[in-house]
Amino acid sequence: QELIKRLEETIENFPDFPIPGIQFKDISPIFLDPKLYEDVIADMAAFSKGKVDAVCGIESRGYLFGIAIAVALEVPFILIRKKGKLPPPVISEKYDLEYGSAEIETREGQIKKGQRILIHDDLLATGGTTEAAAKLVEKQGAAVAQFSFLIGLKDLNGTERLKKFGAEVYSILEY
Ligand code: IMP
Repeated sequence: QELIKRLEETIENFPDFPIPGIQFKDISPIFLDPKLYEDVIADMAAFSKGKVDAVCGIESRGYLFGIAIAVALEVPFILIRKKGKLPPPVISEKYDLEYGSAEIETREGQIKKGQRILIHDDLLATGGTTEAAAKLVEKQGAAVAQFSFLIGLKDLNGTERLKKFGAEVYSILEY
């Protein structure tokens, strides 16, 4: 609760950025405060401790906390990247955006069969990106055990969309 309050005071809101109607949450001020960053990582690591064998972070803000969570848990960290950035062979997953489509990838062989995976990103909105990440994980014979986010936007029903994976979902902050 104290952590939530400190985060609320730190994260900056920008109405109508990058386009009208969007309330942009800028998390960059968190990185100006190492103690706050450390406390965020400790909180997220406590949620996942003993429950996952590896962490997958979604490009690019999912890396900012994801790697530190994995190090705290002493488990591997796997990068989920946008198409075309990783050397082959890769495993890919296509998904629809509001306009058009996108594709995400991981290096083949980094996710192992049977692993319990934490998928982490900074923010859950519609859940489209995270859902594609979860499919990418399952394609490789691993199980999505947990999802964690710094921020969850409640009105966009992202949590609903992730229900089918049967995994725990955690956001430190909800708006
Ligand atoms: P979703 O696929 O609709 O759940 O969107 C989640 C993705 O969009 C995440 O990777 C976020 O980093 C990004 N995102 C969406 N809205 C915001 C915002 O207000 N602030 C920061 N990132 C956002």
